[in-house]
Order: sequence, then structure tokens, then C-alpha cells
Amino acid sequence: MISVAEAIQIVKEQTPTLQTERVALAQTLGRYLAEDIVADSDLPPFDRSQMDGYAIRAQNVANAPVSLPIVGESAAGKGWHHEMEDGQAVRIMTGAPVPAGADSVQQVELTHELQDGRLVEILESVAPGRSIVKRGSEIKAGEIVLRPGERINAAMLAALASFGYVEVQVGRRPRVAVMATGSELVSINTQPAQDQIRDSNNYSISAYAELASAVVERLPLTGDETPLLKRQIAKAAERCDVVVTSGGVSMGVYDFTKTALQELGAELFFERVALRPGKPTVFARLPNGALVFALPGNPVSVSVTFNLFARTALLTMQGAVESTLKEETAVLAVGVKGTSQRESYLPTQLTTNDDGQLIAFPLKWGGSSDFVAFTRATALIKVPKRVGLIAEGTTVRVVRLPHS
Ligand code: AMP
Ligand code: MG
Repeated sequence: MISVAEAIQIVKEQTPTLQTERVALAQTLGRYLAEDIVADSDLPPFDRSQMDGYAIRAQNVANAPVSLPIVGESAAGKGWHHEMEDGQAVRIMTGAPVPAGADSVQQVELTHELQDGRLVEILESVAPGRSIVKRGSEIKAGEIVLRPGERINAAMLAALASFGYVEVQVGRRPRVAVMATGSELVSINTQPAQDQIRDSNNYSISAYAELASAVVERLPLTGDETPLLKRQIAKAAERCDVVVTSGGVSMGVYDFTKTALQELGAELFFERVALRPGKPTVFARLPNGALVFALPGNPVSVSVTFNLFARTALLTMQGAVESTLKEETAVLAVGVKGTSQRESYLPTQLTTNDDGQLIAFPLKWGGSSDFVAFTRATALIKVPKRVGLIAEGTTVRVVRLPHS
């Protein structure tokens, strides 16, 4: 059985990067950059006032209070483009260009106007440069501000907008077909009869795939019948980059997903991983190039294996620099137990204590089917194989689950 790290490596190696496309800026949230983002101007583009107040020369107000004549007004979008002379003041607003000849701004709270606005009394002295953001001090024209492979977040949209990126080159979103197997499954609008349960995996998998910026197509439920499974997988693969199935990969008499894949001529890269939960995870490629993740049926196994493996593929396809879950260290609030043959990924909540340390509260859970307990999980504790009990207070590795 291969390790989780080996399995992730195989996923990275076998997953192609998709072509890139130009997308309107407003549609790029969560997409992966496929070009350098270059500043097209200095920021700020001019010496900019940080305050409402008066542009002055610091040396003129060294012996404040002093009164200075107001010779003009500079507002945001309508600057005062003359030379301010020694001993003068210009009324200025936040965001407005500082006139040539001024070296500082005194905030309005420390001033008051006299003689119907012809004079201003500056009540306190200022240091030269005060309340002025110098041209180009944030970024210089031509500098690269963002690199390919970064996930575009809300703050980045501001940078992209500022530099005039009406459209942005990003990785294409992978198309993912999601399909649940199992004769016991009924759709959510059906009252389960005896021995039946509602399908939940299709919803969690679709949601996780969307969090990975994929375009998701949910397929109808398939039972446990090889010909039907084959037809569904083959059809989905015609229009999708990735097919994610759940269920039917264990050792049961009705576990036919692998058979279906083999009969379709798929190349199986791995079919068992030394992982708890999620051992019987399958990663394969169909003859037409579509990748298949056949995940075990248990809902918690689905969440763990999707995020360890399928998510990595979806992000790799989009050119992400970071394609695996973010790993950190945390201190265990309660002891946990590992297992001899497999690495465990145990659901946990994370909080921070008063010292700023990350604390892991392992969820009390009934195993890989306990998806109600799992609704509280924000991360997974990694417990290496052959480690028995890990005591409370031990520092452990955790991986963050993606969140909405
Ligand atoms: P399997 O891997 O097919 O043996 O399924 C393992 C367990 O997960 C069984 O208890 C199934 O009923 C359950 N299961 C499989 N698929 C789903 C699904 N789509 N939604 C909820 N539970 C499922
Ligand atoms: Mg099944």
C-alpha cells in the first residue's frame, strides 16, 4: 500500500495543466492567475494627502501657532497645480495631490480658518513629510505585484482593477462530473424506504469541487451494476476533465467501480492508500485522458480523500502553486489514537489559546460514517502510522480543510 504522500505525488505527476483563458475581472474571484500582474503606474500616482487639512512647509510652522495665507484648494480629482510659495498654505482633502512647494500636511483638527477662509492658523508644528504618501512609495510602475499560480482573492481584485486589468489570464476551470454509486441510495427529495439512505456524497463532493473552482455536473444516482456504471462513467468522461465517484470500491460483493474502470480500459495509478479513513481510494485515467477519482462511500472518507487527492488534481489543472491542503502545527487538547498500518487523518476543530497557540480539539466521532460530527471539522490531525496513543499537550501536524 502506498503512503498518502506518495499518492499525492502520483496525482501531481499524472495531472495535466489545462489551457488558460481570458476572463472578465469581475469573474475571476477564486481563479488561478496565469500571467504576471504588472503595475502600469506608480502608486500613489502623485504625492497624495492622507488627511483633510492644509499643505504647508514644515519650517513655516516650526513656531506654531502661526497664520498663513490660503492660496488655493486641492481636492481629490481636482488638484491645485501651481507652485506653492514659502509662507503659503493650500487647503487640501484626503486623496488629493499635494502641490509642488509643500512638504507636509497639517490635519484640519489642528488648524482653524480666519478672515472668511483667507488665512489659516496652524496650531501645532509638523515634521516634514507628515501625512503625505509619496508618489510610487507603495509600488513603482513596471513592478510585478502578483505571480502565476496564485489564487485570486478579493484584495487582489483591487490590485487588478487599479492596474487596469479589464480581463485576466487564468487557468481554465476543470469540468467535474460527480456520481454516487450504491443500490441503497435515494435522492434527497425521496423518503428512504427500508434499507435505503439519502445520497449525501454527491452534495459534499460537488461543494468541495466548487470550492476548488471546478465547474460541476451532478449525475443521476447509479446503483451497483457494472454495465450502468460503465455507461455513466464513459459518458461523463466525454465532456469532463475529471470524474469523481463515491462508493463501490471496497472488497464487498457489490463493489463494481473498479471493475467498471478496468473494463473501460482505464489505467489505475493507485487503488489503495495507507490512509484512515479512505484506504480503498482509486485514482485512474481513462483512455480519452479524463482522470477518475473513485472514492470510498463513507461520507467522512469522501471528504478526506477528495480534499487530499481530487482537490490536488483540480488545483494542479488550474496551475496553482499550492495544490495541497495548508499544513500547520497545533497542540492536542485531547489525546488521539493512531493505527498500525495506516496514517490517520482525524477530524478536528482548531482554536487559538491566549498565547496565540493553535489548539486541536479532536472531534468525538463514530468513525468514517459519522458525517454529522464531521460538520464541525475545520482541519484534520495527521497521525503517522505505527504511532499508538498521542497524549494531550503533544504538538501535531494538522491540515486545514477548505471552507466556504
Ligand atoms: P461503499 O463504499 O459503497 O461500501 O459504501 C460505504 C458506506 O457509505 C455505506 O454505508 C454506504 O451506504 C455509504 N454511502 C455510499 N455512498 C453514499 C452516498 N452517496 N451518500 C451517503 N452515504 C453513502
Ligand atoms: Mg456501495
